[in-house]
Amino acid sequence: MAVSDSIAGPVIDPIEFARKHGLLEREVGLAELPRLIDVLSATTGLLSVRLEGWRDDEGKSWLQLDVAGEPVLCCQRCLGGVKFPLRISSRLQLMASGEVWPDDDLDDDESDAIVAEEKLSVLSLIEDEVLLALPIAPRHEKCEPPSASTSGHGSSPFAALAALKKHRTKE
Ligand SMILES: [Zn+2]
Repeated sequence: MAVSDSIAGPVIDPIEFARKHGLLEREVGLAELPRLIDVLSATTGLLSVRLEGWRDDEGKSWLQLDVAGEPVLCCQRCLGGVKFPLRISSRLQLMASGEVWPDDDLDDDESDAIVAEEKLSVLSLIEDEVLLALPIAPRHEKCEPPSASTSGHGSSPFAALAALKKHRTKE
């Protein structure tokens, strides 16, 4: 199996990987995915990753990428951490450069096509897929923006003043 480990993580020749029915299973630390750091509230944690390659009867090469984990994203309302149950199951058709792109598959939700570069970084492939799967504006189902807290726990002087005013008009 054509897998070599470098500092940047495993690199495969995807066509070779598919031809030999390669299988790669490992845990990937969130800290290993630098493009995710902006959307994460914490970079501790692991993703379970499984990458399998094969060739079908028509000679097409495929990768199946499964990723599971629970990254903690930054809530866009209260700025706290919000756990996101991540489950990715992507089927990718490997296209040699110059090969005719499959029109039908472009709108196909079941699979995507990617260019089969000679050296594919498994980590950046994971990163691409994870970025696509994450919500653009993650939020808790129920939470309050920090400045509008009226629960008394909020330390905003404006909120405290508003609460005081409300109290006074009742009297
Ligand atoms: Zn929130």
